[in-house]
Amino acid sequence: MTAVLNPATEETIAELPEASAEEADAAVARAKDAFPAWRAVTPSDRARLLRRLAALVEERGEELARIESENVGKPISGARAEVGMVAEVFHFYAGAVDKHHGETIPVAGGVDMTFREPLGVVGLIVPWNFPLNIASWKLGPALACGNTVVLKPAELTPLSSLRLGELCLEAGIPEGVVNVLAGKGSIVGQRLVEHPDVAKIGFTGSTEVGRSVMEGAAATIKRVTLELGGKSANVIFADADLEKAAAAAPYAVFDNAGQDCCARSRILVESSAYDRFLELLIEATAGVEVGDPADPRTEMGPLISEEHRRKVASFVDGEVAFRGAVPDGEKGFWFPCTLVEASNRDRVAREEVFGPVAAVIPFADEAEAVRLANDTPYGLSGSIWTRDGARALRVARAVEAGVLSVNSNSSVRVATPFGGFKQSGFGRELGMQALEGYSETKNVYFSLE
Ligand code: NDP
Repeated sequence: MTAVLNPATEETIAELPEASAEEADAAVARAKDAFPAWRAVTPSDRARLLRRLAALVEERGEELARIESENVGKPISGARAEVGMVAEVFHFYAGAVDKHHGETIPVAGGVDMTFREPLGVVGLIVPWNFPLNIASWKLGPALACGNTVVLKPAELTPLSSLRLGELCLEAGIPEGVVNVLAGKGSIVGQRLVEHPDVAKIGFTGSTEVGRSVMEGAAATIKRVTLELGGKSANVIFADADLEKAAAAAPYAVFDNAGQDCCARSRILVESSAYDRFLELLIEATAGVEVGDPADPRTEMGPLISEEHRRKVASFVDGEVAFRGAVPDGEKGFWFPCTLVEASNRDRVAREEVFGPVAAVIPFADEAEAVRLANDTPYGLSGSIWTRDGARALRVARAVEAGVLSVNSNSSVRVATPFGGFKQSGFGRELGMQALEGYSETKNVYFSLE
């Protein structure tokens, strides 16, 4: 049995059996059996089932948000917003079912047409930082395309996915279409990657494990979508609205206690505005409410585990520009909001901290800003703050990242594509683009002779 903890109290909130490789095989077999009937469900009925699932998520929103908040340690206000997004994701893909279609292509001698075929059984492997959200980003398009699914949540945070599996059944999605299996990545995850009957792996997690998923998938030429780590830059030019940029910056890196692949954990600031910006940034960071995740005013909770706290702490060894407060003498894996002045060569600027630690780095001009932003193996997201529209677009085009925002730090929306360049992975989630990753294009030529 594995104990599932509340990271804010260190209390055990559930004990679950750990699934074995044989149970993973059995889940794949169930999904395989369910596939022919599920792919044959008419598009309008499949859409109706997804819509019902969306409505159920809305109806049980408070329960799901509490499960997520307790299991991940995330503030309840954030958990509510995330569950709201989960419902929106299922609504979106309900609407997408009959809008993802093939084309007819003019050719000699007949008619050429394309079809979007489901892949079969897909394995979805998700991390602990946004368990339900990321599960829905994969489940929505996978089901919309007519695939059946084995979903493996992270061992630390299985509770919301297990509940979602029950809601799928309650919504009327047939038995066997969605199989949620809680177990270790090295056992259940690995088995899904190797299994000959799994056609695709949708993976979100670390670049290191992503690499091994890609290697493992090669044996069966499995399709993979990899959403991996990030080390995103928040680029602040001197002509930006500095007050607005500084007020927003803490939430772009300390949200979810920094355990966010999109965290703008490198704050690049034009030298001429550096001192003023740092002053404003410290003031804004001091205002972040850290504490009990159940309190609706709380903006940042604890880290996920003691082991993770040790890893995050290893990035802060010297002087800091600012260190925030954490609940005093209480249990929980707390870590304060921390700002460090750094160069882009320092470890804190090169590796993904995945905790509430931001590196503030000066740059001289636009060319240096772009060079520093791109001087990382990652390429997930980032922001550009300036009042010069042409510069904003020039820099946005030059930064090697998949998801950028100008005068804003928000990069995740249900209707728009999300995913990385370079070692942040490949494939796109969300938007209509996600459907490409859960279907094959079939080309049929029909002779008229
Ligand atoms: P991991 O890569 O350790 O785990 C991710 C998932 O993979 C978990 O479900 C884990 O299972 C599973 N897993 C572990 N080993 C294997 C294996 N050998 N084969 C198959 N599956 C396996 O990442 P974390 O959960 O620690 O998440 C943090 C990392 O994820 C960060 O680096 C972060 O940047 C990245 N991430 C990227 C996102 C993106 O969209 N780009 C979003 C969120 C996080 P288990 O934990 O049960 O062992």
